[in-house]
Amino acid sequence: MKRMSGTTPIAGGAAQNWITLAAMIVVGALALVSLYMGFRAYGDQEIETAFMYLVIGASGFIAIGYSFFRAKPTAKESLEPKKVDVITTLECPQCNLKRVRSFQRGDYIFKRDEPCTRCDGQMVITAIHTRKEEKK
Ligand SMILES: [Zn+2]
Repeated sequence: MKRMSGTTPIAGGAAQNWITLAAMIVVGALALVSLYMGFRAYGDQEIETAFMYLVIGASGFIAIGYSFFRAKPTAKESLEPKKVDVITTLECPQCNLKRVRSFQRGDYIFKRDEPCTRCDGQMVITAIHTRKEEKK
């Protein structure tokens, strides 16, 4: 039997998150070291060196803050599809009764679906569309 090892897309995505986290930790550690070196240089009256280290340290923290801030919207985007409702519109060709219900697996336009509730006809799917969650 052949077994797949480490080639699944899920593992790849997890590895990418892990790399991002590791990079953030490394940058954070370097930023802390730079700040420490900066304060030490400041204590030794080496203002220029202290300033350089402080700038490196500060920009390291800014980079972390920026990537953390950027990471949030993408996490929200992945949750977005759950909020979108898919609506199926059904119409009876005999009495023109119109009905909407949530999309069900196997629905397609012009599919003969459930029997009409008003006459003996059969409802036909006329539209399938999305509806974003209404906010009040
Ligand atoms: Zn009908």
